[in-house]
Amino acid sequence: MQFFTKKEEQTSSCDTNSGCCTPAPKGKMECPQCKQKAKAVLAKTLDSLLKDETKSSLESFDGFYYCKTPTCSTVYFRDKTILTQDDLSVVVGLKDKASPATLCYCFDYSKEKIYKDIKEKGTTTVLEDIKTKMKTQGCSCETLNPSGGCCLGDVAKAIKEISA
Ligand SMILES: [Zn+2]
Repeated sequence: MQFFTKKEEQTSSCDTNSGCCTPAPKGKMECPQCKQKAKAVLAKTLDSLLKDETKSSLESFDGFYYCKTPTCSTVYFRDKTILTQDDLSVVVGLKDKASPATLCYCFDYSKEKIYKDIKEKGTTTVLEDIKTKMKTQGCSCETLNPSGGCCLGDVAKAIKEISA
């Protein structure tokens, strides 16, 4: 077992051995709004997280990309179609001013919780708690997390930012 402070552990998403998530669809596309590279998402992620009215306006949920840029209001896009927070039934925690700023949707951990831990105890076990729960309970990132993937990278990044 490696310490999570190792760089590769912090930046990697799920290790494939954990059986946590289905591998994300391959491919990246530039976000039409912020011009940053965005990752492809599974149709079932959109099917699970979009509001009914948005879902009924779309012919299919295939071929969308997820923009994680905090300052960008685009959440999902496909060609000329742009979906924002208003189209989602959950708050996209990684976007600026999100409240709650949820990072782990499977077990409900937020930036607020990490901030509180660090303020009160000087440290947080959120990353370890999530890893333990991933093993004991299993997770459903594809249908709960707007990114459609594992949250560990985002959690590690948030802990680093909040600790700094
Ligand atoms: Zn963007």
